[in-house]
Amino acid sequence: MGSIWTMDFDIEPHEPLQEDISVDVAVIGAGMAGILTAVRLQERGLKVAVLEANRIAGGVTQGTTAKITSQHYAQYNKMIETLGFEKAQQYASANEKAIEEYREWVGTRQIDCNFENRPAYAYSKDDMTTLLQEAEAAKRLNIDAQFTAVTELPFPVVGAVKFNNQAQFNPLKFIKQIIGGLKIYEHTMVRSVEGHEVITDRAKVHAEKIVVATHYPFINVPGYYFLRQHQERSYVLALKNVPSIEGMYIEALGKGYSLRSYGEYMLLGGAGHRTGENSAGGCYNRLRKAAKELFYNCEEVCCWSAQDCITTDGIPFIGNYSMSTPDLYVATGFKKWGMSSSMVASMILSDLITGKENPYAEVFYPQRMNLELSAKGYAEETRQAVKGLTRRLFKVPEAVLKDIERGHGGVIEHEGEKLGVYKDDDGKIFTVSVKCPHLSCELEWNPDEKSWDCPCHGSRFDFHGNLIDNPAMEGLEQV
Ligand SMILES: Cc1cc2nc3c(=O)[nH]c(=O)nc-3n(C[C@H](O)[C@H](O)[C@H](O)COP(=O)(O)OP(=O)(O)OC[C@H]3O[C@@H](n4cnc5c(N)ncnc54)[C@H](O)[C@@H]3O)c2cc1C
Repeated sequence: MGSIWTMDFDIEPHEPLQEDISVDVAVIGAGMAGILTAVRLQERGLKVAVLEANRIAGGVTQGTTAKITSQHYAQYNKMIETLGFEKAQQYASANEKAIEEYREWVGTRQIDCNFENRPAYAYSKDDMTTLLQEAEAAKRLNIDAQFTAVTELPFPVVGAVKFNNQAQFNPLKFIKQIIGGLKIYEHTMVRSVEGHEVITDRAKVHAEKIVVATHYPFINVPGYYFLRQHQERSYVLALKNVPSIEGMYIEALGKGYSLRSYGEYMLLGGAGHRTGENSAGGCYNRLRKAAKELFYNCEEVCCWSAQDCITTDGIPFIGNYSMSTPDLYVATGFKKWGMSSSMVASMILSDLITGKENPYAEVFYPQRMNLELSAKGYAEETRQAVKGLTRRLFKVPEAVLKDIERGHGGVIEHEGEKLGVYKDDDGKIFTVSVKCPHLSCELEWNPDEKSWDCPCHGSRFDFHGNLIDNPAMEGLEQV
């Protein structure tokens, strides 16, 4: 299902890479993080190529609600406690600077993308203490913030922390207007990186520096990002016949609804869960029920869902991919706040690549937890499991398949073996292996999206077995 931004998506198609090329920097992934980084590097005089597996901004970026804010839930009080004041200050300043950068880009480049300066609110229905502590912490970090009891929300709250001078926009219109002159290759999936060679299906790119901006990093070793982050999915409805609101709202601990206006529409988000943990389904229906309760006359224009990576300490990984790969860089783990985080990534990575100091790099340093040694055994184990995968596949007898209801899917066990089965509304059966080709985890059926989702790392596949979301690089084996 396409998001509100894709309703008028009209970015010109770009040709796939057909022959070997040589550049200063190869950026892998044309989402917000990859595009912003590539534009900055090109503007610093470097020869840049962007390699995109599908279409520009066709990943998580098209599923965002596009609030540009340094308010990433109520996080600063906790961040000061766990990371210390200095690092929390770096995080806050980096994200405040990111908002300024968007404002400046939109102004000086005259980008027509529905950019609007708006306040952001983190609300709570019952936790006044968290709100008061957060307002205090944000002020200490020089954010223009305050506690307020006044909101525009259509349900009772004890109050909210208000951040002034934040913003919202249409991300696809923004991207369309900044990519002029950038060399982008669409439908060009990168299969591997070997030293300075970036290998795609048809050709190679030789690059002095390489940026992995693929949302979930696809190189497992080194880096071991699969041990340091998981993915969470959220659902969004675009509604009309709803009063417009000025602010952008999020529940302080990320457990309630997200709201913002976009023109005549209200974007209502929520019903989130860890990817691969939605076997009961009903997320869209819960959100629809809430929409009707909150906005009686509302009418649904479109709905979509998307997922983002959450690191174990809640801070994105931006910087060198691993200690052993000095010319390879990464930007991931944006915790559903990738508009400001992508801008932060572009600032840090363009400085690192051009040999400049960056005042924010330390807090985002990807090697802050060194897993390179301890993870080797785990990686070897999972590789072995993947090797044995195809040998375990088997056929299910017709009698077992008859019992499955139309429109339903799930994992079935037969003679001690497991298989993913979906029966469509016409009674046609689709059977796939439920072992994820990424690291061999067992997939879960997601009835809301009719997809097979990995609870460990968040890869997703449609019921045919085709790949939808990484880090897996290929589809499921059909049985
Ligand atoms: C429901 C939801 C709402 C959100 N709302 C907000 C919000 O209001 N504000 C905010 O700040 N953030 C928000 N976010 C987060 C934000 O949308 C994301 O963090 C951000 O879009 C991620 O951008 P990206 O460039 O890292 O990833 P993507 O946009 O996914 O781009 C990565 C690209 O890499 C490509 N790729 C992957 N593997 C390969 C490969 N091997 N070779 C070549 N290309 C490859 C993909 O096709 C994709 O196009 C939200 C997230 C969700 C899920």
